[in-house]
Amino acid sequence: MASQVVSWGRERDTMGKTRSGRIGVIGGGLGGLASACTLSARGYDVVLFEKNPWLGGKAAVLSEGGFRFDMGPTILLMPSVLERIFVEAGRDLKDELELVPLDPQWRCFFVDGSVLDLHANSERMAAALDSLAPGGKASQGYRRFLDLSARLDDISQRYFFWRSIGSVGDMFDPTTAASLSTLGDVLRMRPWSTVGATIRTFVKDRRVTQMLDHFTQYVGSAPDLSPAVLCSIAHMQTGEGVWYPRGGTRAVAEALIGLAEELGVVLHCGSGVQTIQTGSDAAVSGVTLDDGQHVPLAAVVSNCDSVRTHRELLAGTPAADRFENRRGYEAACSGVVLYLGLDRRYDQLLHHNFVFSRDPQEEFDVIYRKGEPAPDPTCYVCAPADTEPDVAPPGGEALYVLVHTPYLRPHHDWKTLYPRYRQTILEKLKTTAGLDDIEMRIKVERWLTPQDIHNRYRVLDGAIYGLASHGRLNGAFKPANRSPDLGRLYLAGGAVHPGPGMPMVTMSGWIAADTLDKDGVVEPVREPLAHARSVPNPAGML
Ligand SMILES: Cc1cc2nc3c(=O)[nH]c(=O)nc-3n(C[C@H](O)[C@H](O)[C@H](O)COP(=O)(O)OP(=O)(O)OC[C@H]3O[C@@H](n4cnc5c(N)ncnc54)[C@H](O)[C@@H]3O)c2cc1C
Repeated sequence: MASQVVSWGRERDTMGKTRSGRIGVIGGGLGGLASACTLSARGYDVVLFEKNPWLGGKAAVLSEGGFRFDMGPTILLMPSVLERIFVEAGRDLKDELELVPLDPQWRCFFVDGSVLDLHANSERMAAALDSLAPGGKASQGYRRFLDLSARLDDISQRYFFWRSIGSVGDMFDPTTAASLSTLGDVLRMRPWSTVGATIRTFVKDRRVTQMLDHFTQYVGSAPDLSPAVLCSIAHMQTGEGVWYPRGGTRAVAEALIGLAEELGVVLHCGSGVQTIQTGSDAAVSGVTLDDGQHVPLAAVVSNCDSVRTHRELLAGTPAADRFENRRGYEAACSGVVLYLGLDRRYDQLLHHNFVFSRDPQEEFDVIYRKGEPAPDPTCYVCAPADTEPDVAPPGGEALYVLVHTPYLRPHHDWKTLYPRYRQTILEKLKTTAGLDDIEMRIKVERWLTPQDIHNRYRVLDGAIYGLASHGRLNGAFKPANRSPDLGRLYLAGGAVHPGPGMPMVTMSGWIAADTLDKDGVVEPVREPLAHARSVPNPAGML
C-alpha cells in the first residue's frame, strides 16, 4: 500500500504519483497566466515560458501616433470567471480593474439600412424589436429564445464548466446519468439540432436571425454546423453583461501579469519551448527551450494550441499518436484586423458594432465550407473613444475592424489577398454603416492577417478561436484539460475545454490548475493562500 502524508490539509500519495519540483507553464496567454496564478495561490512553485517578448498572448496592445488599440479581444463577457482567479489569490478584482458596463451591448447595421441595438434589458430589447419588426412576433420569439438560452446556460454551468471534460461521457456522473432529471437535461440540450436551426424555430425576421447567428462567431464557427447548446452564449452575454475594462482589454492581461508577479510566478519572456520531455514513467519530465536548455519539471500546463502542442512539442511520441487518433481537429475561423487611427469619430457608432453582410448563408458557406474570404463580409467594428477618450488624440478614434476569414489553407497567400480585401472591407463600412469618408480620415494604419495571427500566437492554421465547434453531438467538446495521453500534462487555452474567448480561456487555465492540484501529482512548496480552493462556482458573482 502506498504511504500517505498529510500535506497542508490534503492527503498525498508519496510512493506513486506525487513529485517534488516546479510546474512549468508553456505560453503566457490569458489561459497560461490564469493557470500560473491559480497554481501559485495553491502553494506550487511555478515557472512560465513565453516565446514572445510580451505576456498576454492575443490580448496584446498596439500604440502608435497617439492611438492605442487592443489588438485581439475587445468584448469582455463573464468577468465573474476572472474574479474567481483573483478571489483565490485573496484579491478583489474591483481593486485591479475598473469595469465599465456597456448597454446597448452592440449596434447592428443591416444592408437594408435598418439599425438594431442589442439591449441587456429584455423590455428595452422587446421595444427595439417591435420598432424594427412591428407586430410583436420578433420580440415574442426573441424572448422565448432567450428563455431557452438561459436554460442551456444553466445546463452548461451544472455539467460543463469548471471541470476537465473531453467528451459527453465526462459530463455526467455515472451514478446519476440514467436519472430522469439528467436525461431531461440531455434532451433540453437539443442534441439533434444546430444553433442556426434552433434560432429559426423561434424567430423568422432575417435581421434578427442574422444578429443571433453571430453569437457563434464568438467561437469562430458556423451557426448551421454548431450544436444547439451553444445558443447559451446569448444568455451569457445578456445575463452578466458586456464590460469594458478601463485601459482596454489589455488591462485584463496586465492585471493577471501583476497578480502572477505578486504571487511569485517566475516569468520568462522570449523563451520558447521546443519540446516537452517525457521520463521513464511515460509522463512529463521537463521541457527543452528553443536555445537548447533543458529544464526539469514535475508537471507541465501547456497554453500553446493543443494541436500544435502534440504535433510539434510532442512530435513522434506515443502521446502525440494517441491524441491524433482520437478525433479530427478542425481549426476555428481566422480573421483580418484593421487598426485605423482616425482624425474623427462617427456618431452613428456605439462601442461595439456589427456591420452585417448581405446574406449570412452565403457568408458562412464561403468561409466555413468553401474556405474562402467572404465577398461581402460582416465587419465587427470597435469604436472605444467615447468610452475612453485617451485611446486617440482629441476628437479622434482608434477604430478596430475585424472580419472573420477561413482558417489558413495552403493556397492562401495573404500578402496578395490583403490589399484587395482591405478595399472590400472599407467599401463595406462605407455602404452599410455610412463611414463615407473613412479613407481620408486615416492617420495611422496597421493590420493583422491570418498568416500574422498564425505566426504571432503559434495557433492552428491561423485560428483566432482555437478549434471549430462543428458537429451536432460533439461540436461543444474540445480536448480535456487533463491529458489522457501523457501523465502530468495539462492543457489550457482556447483550443481545449471549455473553448475560446477571454472568460473561457481563463476558466480553462483555472481548470487545468485545479485538476493538477486535485490529482496530487506535484508537492506544493508552501501553504495555499487562505481562499485558494475555497471559492464556490462564481456564476453571477458580480
Ligand atoms: C483578433 C481577435 C479578436 C478576438 N476577439 C475577442 C473578443 O472580443 N472577446 C473575447 O473574449 N475573445 C476574443 N478573441 C479570442 C481571445 O483573444 C482568445 O480566445 C484568448 O485570448 C486566447 O487565450 P489563450 O490563453 O488561449 O492563448 P493565446 O492568447 O494565444 O496565448 C498563447 C501563448 O502561448 C505562446 N506560445 C505558444 N507556443 C509556445 C511555445 N512553444 N513556447 C512558449 N510560448 C508559446 C504564444 O506566443 C502565446 O502568447 C479574439 C482573438 C483575436 C485574435
